[in-house]
Amino acid sequence: MAGDRILVLNAGSSSCKGALYQVPSPSAAVVPEPLWRGQLSWGRQGNQADLAVTTQQGTTLKRTLAVAQPLEHLEELLVTLWQGETQVIDSPDDIAAVGHRVVHGGQHYCQSVPVTAEVKQIIAELAPLAPTHNPANLRGIEILETLLTNCPQVAVFDTAFHTQMPAAAAYYPGPYEWAAKGLRRYGFHGISHQYVAHRAAQLLERDLDDLRLITCHLGNGCSLAAVHRGHSVNTTMGFTPLEGLMMGSRSGSLDPGLLIYLLRQEGYTADQVDQVLNRQSGLLGISGLSSDLRTLQEAMAQGHGRAQLAFDMFIHRLQTHIGAMLASLGGLDGLVFTAGIGEHSPVVWRRTCEALQFLNVVLEADLTPGDEDMAIQAPGSAVPVLVIHTQEEWAIARECVTVLATMA
Ligand code: ADP
Repeated sequence: MAGDRILVLNAGSSSCKGALYQVPSPSAAVVPEPLWRGQLSWGRQGNQADLAVTTQQGTTLKRTLAVAQPLEHLEELLVTLWQGETQVIDSPDDIAAVGHRVVHGGQHYCQSVPVTAEVKQIIAELAPLAPTHNPANLRGIEILETLLTNCPQVAVFDTAFHTQMPAAAAYYPGPYEWAAKGLRRYGFHGISHQYVAHRAAQLLERDLDDLRLITCHLGNGCSLAAVHRGHSVNTTMGFTPLEGLMMGSRSGSLDPGLLIYLLRQEGYTADQVDQVLNRQSGLLGISGLSSDLRTLQEAMAQGHGRAQLAFDMFIHRLQTHIGAMLASLGGLDGLVFTAGIGEHSPVVWRRTCEALQFLNVVLEADLTPGDEDMAIQAPGSAVPVLVIHTQEEWAIARECVTVLATMA
């Protein structure tokens, strides 16, 4: 192996995040802090981009750059790895591989793969299914290919974990031919669901193969997975990340007849439907205040009725979808909360679990979020309830190590 560090890149539509990890020993159980974290974000201020770097040693760097093309400053970000005050490696040669988060792998990829010309072509072909993400992911790969020539690159797909969902869960009940055309449920947040499922087994000191878990990824985007013997057998997101739970600014599932009505009677264009369902709905759409749960919680404390309604709807939909996952599993050995809301909101933990009291799921009386992964069920609860900090970047780094081993 050329170097002993793994660079992880998550190139999105309004930001590009990177993290550099030391290659772990196979037995390493603790998630390490990355040696370096870097972020480029744009779109906040017209033609400006913000560059921010922090190192494990505590050095920080912030710059504002003029930006014409998103990602054009990626080189400037990466150079901070081996030059200047945030330098953590001697040269680009110290990087053994780059792991890229790729949102959509379609039906093609059930696991991470080394990037080849064919892989890039398929990521490009899948762009209509993930128009804001796949093109940005691909651009990140292409830029890294020119910056780190000869460094292996690995694509890690957000859909991969769900590819073994049974057809009964994966197909839509439209014409049978839809599935052959790719019009089926894929599911997303797979890197996170898979990581927290493994971590849950570790915390429970059980074999993942013996467990039925519901993993709740509740961030700006929200999804659940029903994980049986380490595989996703059902999930709430579908053909796109719009299906399922109510989210920050996304509606989640609706009656499809409503869309027909909007198009026919209200004169919406397809772009307007896209805009309203992805950006003006969910917690934001109902509260009229914000997509951020923290803001809504403050407003609820002041008696803001629409903030309260938005929160109640969020919980109602979360509870009903947990019911659906429960039915897919036929039992439950652990419920896991993760991502921004899932890691930090005791009121969400408590309200969600109220619906599971009939199963004798009981939480501790005093719940405070912390930096550590933790169990929050009361002694005697029939099912453990865990709060696990998702580590998507670390999970991508580990995938790289696995893929590199197959290439050796
Ligand atoms: P993303 O899905 O973009 O990765 P995150 O997983 O970071 O986002 O989740 C972001 C969301 O987490 C915020 O919009 C906010 O609603 C929620 N959140 C973060 N911290 C808290 C907190 N202390 N209490 C309640 N919600 C929180």
